[in-house]
Amino acid sequence: MTQSEIASEIESLSEKKFRAAQIYKWLAMGTESFEDMTDISKPLREKLDNLYFIPSVKTVKRFESSLDGTVKYLYELYDGERIESVLMKYNHGYTVCISTQVGCRMGCSFCASGIDGLFRNLNASEMLAQVFNAAKDNGIRVSNIVLMGMGEPLDNFDNVKRFLELVSDPVGLGIGYRHISLSTSGVVSGIYKLAELNLPITLSISLHAPFDNMRSEMMKVNKKWNIEQLIKACKDYQKTTGRRISFEYAMIKGVNDTEQCALQLAKILKGIMCHVNLIPVNPVKENSYVKSDRRELEAFAERLNGLGINTTVRRTLGGDIDASCGQLRRKYDEKRRGNFENLQ
Ligand code: SAH
Ligand code: SF4
Repeated sequence: MTQSEIASEIESLSEKKFRAAQIYKWLAMGTESFEDMTDISKPLREKLDNLYFIPSVKTVKRFESSLDGTVKYLYELYDGERIESVLMKYNHGYTVCISTQVGCRMGCSFCASGIDGLFRNLNASEMLAQVFNAAKDNGIRVSNIVLMGMGEPLDNFDNVKRFLELVSDPVGLGIGYRHISLSTSGVVSGIYKLAELNLPITLSISLHAPFDNMRSEMMKVNKKWNIEQLIKACKDYQKTTGRRISFEYAMIKGVNDTEQCALQLAKILKGIMCHVNLIPVNPVKENSYVKSDRRELEAFAERLNGLGINTTVRRTLGGDIDASCGQLRRKYDEKRRGNFENLQ
């Protein structure tokens, strides 16, 4: 809830209006129980506790990289579902990568998050709780958020929209839109809906292939909206928002890392103010993808840069802790469901 929504609730309980600001202040600090709101009278705390619920995430596993301090969390939600989150440290501050769904129904062939399909959407509070927990657990201030964990944010549009409003509220966490990136596999209808909001967030497109046949094999979403429709949506989005767009490209050895791919990629991105991030694909045990060599990555980047497409090779963080999404949940979820494979 926003502070004004809390104020109307408080009024409907015939309590003093200033209580709303007190409650909101506690919530914005990540307080997880009414009992901890010590400047509120005990009877009111009890009343609130009977009527309302503060969603939180419970840490099931926490892994910290000894290489770069990246922290990976496996969280449990109120109904026992599990999601992943990552805290990364950059020169410009701390970034939290949050999940937006339990599982994902987009079914991209290289991704561990979508293997079992979608379990459910996260609500806005469950997204906020991931940010609060990362901050509290590590005693830091979060400066950036990326919606790049489990799930397709544009397949959970209303909750994501609500989260963006709440997390950027200057009275609350106050993480400005310019410090938030939303990544999509290419849900074109959602890109247009997002453009309507005209928020100065960064839109990140998981492109991964410059040819329709190749992309459709990797990403089912391409069968619904092909590359031409996706690129058109990006151009329209840019026209409305004036924002630079990021394109993610996971480099898979012998699949999408050829010279022909680089040339075609440069062709389709021509005329878009954009940035390409090359990421070595993270091998997942359920598929046989192998990451391109460093040499191939650099050559691909050089080629694109030479063709006028601003490209960087993304630095890998948390290499020692399985920091990319979906795998951790599967590992521990299988165990929870008692799969035979994990019998110990
Ligand atoms: N559903 C959204 C956001 C979550 S996925 C999307 O697809 O964009 C976040 C990013 O991780 C996406 O760019 C996705 O393509 C990428 N990704 C998923 N599995 C990967 C893997 N095995 N190796 C490298 N990147 C991967
Ligand atoms: Fe879903 Fe993104 Fe994974 Fe595709 S890459 S299955 S859209 S989380």
